Amino acid sequence: MTVKTARTAPEHVAVVGAGMAGLCTAWFLQERGVRVTVLDRKGVAAGCSWGNAGMLNPAFTVPLPEPSVLRYGFRSFLDRSSPVSIPPTVDRQLWSFLLSFARNCTARQWQRAMAVFNELNRSCLAAYEHLAEGGVSAPVKSADPLIIACRNRQDREHVLKEFAHISASGGDEARFETVTGGELRELEPVLSAEVRTGLRVYGQRFINPPEFVRTLAEDVRNRGGEIVENFSVDRVHDLGESGVELVPSASSRTADTVRADAVVLAGGAWLNDLARPFGVKMRVQAGRGYSFTVRPRVMPTHPIYLSGQRIACNPLGDRFRVTGSMEFRSPDAPLDPRRIRTIIESARPMFSGIDWNDRHEEWVGSRPCTADGLPLIGPSRSPRVQIAGGHGMWGMVLGPLTGRLLADAMTGNGEVPPLIRHFDPLR
Ligand SMILES: Cc1cc2nc3c(=O)[nH]c(=O)nc-3n(C[C@H](O)[C@H](O)[C@H](O)COP(=O)(O)OP(=O)(O)OC[C@H]3O[C@@H](n4cnc5c(N)ncnc54)[C@H](O)[C@@H]3O)c2cc1C
Repeated sequence: MTVKTARTAPEHVAVVGAGMAGLCTAWFLQERGVRVTVLDRKGVAAGCSWGNAGMLNPAFTVPLPEPSVLRYGFRSFLDRSSPVSIPPTVDRQLWSFLLSFARNCTARQWQRAMAVFNELNRSCLAAYEHLAEGGVSAPVKSADPLIIACRNRQDREHVLKEFAHISASGGDEARFETVTGGELRELEPVLSAEVRTGLRVYGQRFINPPEFVRTLAEDVRNRGGEIVENFSVDRVHDLGESGVELVPSASSRTADTVRADAVVLAGGAWLNDLARPFGVKMRVQAGRGYSFTVRPRVMPTHPIYLSGQRIACNPLGDRFRVTGSMEFRSPDAPLDPRRIRTIIESARPMFSGIDWNDRHEEWVGSRPCTADGLPLIGPSRSPRVQIAGGHGMWGMVLGPLTGRLLADAMTGNGEVPPLIRHFDPLR
């Protein structure tokens, strides 16, 4: 069933941001015959879409605000080794985000948001298949199985409880087996004796994020789309019936403006700067995460999640990416080496055969987080200014579905997919 609104489809759309959200939207707009121009202040995958864990896990893609996250947040004030980090001096905007986030950390709000995620989780991998059928050749690998490695039964119980909550909220039952540490080591000898139990979870996928996003960008170009790098959009002018005009900032390579019938703002953690003048009040807060790669003696072939440590690891072929941390700071702050050390100290006991000093590709990136855990997808106050972002922890798995929903809504001559109503950027 679809909802009707009065709108005509644009012929040319500018997309701000060449990350997963922007490129997927551009690709699906092209599917519907729209010409696209993608603008990025740096380049393809210059933001969070580069160094993430690349896990596509509909079995536990869940809203970030939940009661246990509050516990972590509180601990972080006292314990600098906590995976969640809140700076000791908090500005007014961060305070208001954290208060609003805390208000959403109730069981009832989580269930409400989870009901929406259940719908997303049922369709997100199909949107990836759509990309593959349309020619995006970067591999989407089956994780079978995804490994959840736990130090003790308590950590394992936490995951089992989460699965039970998801299923009680109407989500699909995850397919998994609980196993011993020894059984996990048979699959992945890189796991140390400290891993005593865990799970094998089936039906999940993973990607190599930089490779996937680069391939997607190539495909957008091959289909006639333009991707303009070093174009930092300073402001957007809504010209009414004549469309929109995008003005570059002084730091851009060009001073020429770009005109289009409509614009999609997909600027990740920087989304608010351009979206606020169009009535988008929901703050997108940078939840910064860190990653690096190592070369274990025996290279893993399955993605591994250390549930007690909240560390996600992804085999990228010739190297193993380790990711973690949630740091609420400005997206433009420099990489803090202490956060990398914290990840190493947590991960080290769980692995063997890794030289942690031989690290490469140290990286920090900003998850675009919203206080209610739901993304922002759809029109702003102006039908010519559309929003795609705010996916927090899940922008990779939800990117293609986001692109498809938004492209459908923008080109459907008034037919709007009902799922999109949950993501109203003006809420
Ligand atoms: C450590 C870590 C692990 C993660 N693991 C996973 C995972 O396993 N699975 C998953 O689904 N998600 C994961 N995520 C989350 C995921 O990476 C993000 O949700 C996703 O990348 C966000 O994509 P985006 O396109 O919205 O933003 P970005 O990738 O940040 O893209 C935004 C782009 O906009 C550009 N931009 C901003 N402002 C302007 C402007 N004014 N003008 C021009 N360009 C502009 C930026 O340069 C940037 O390239 C993880 C994140 C982190 C940090």
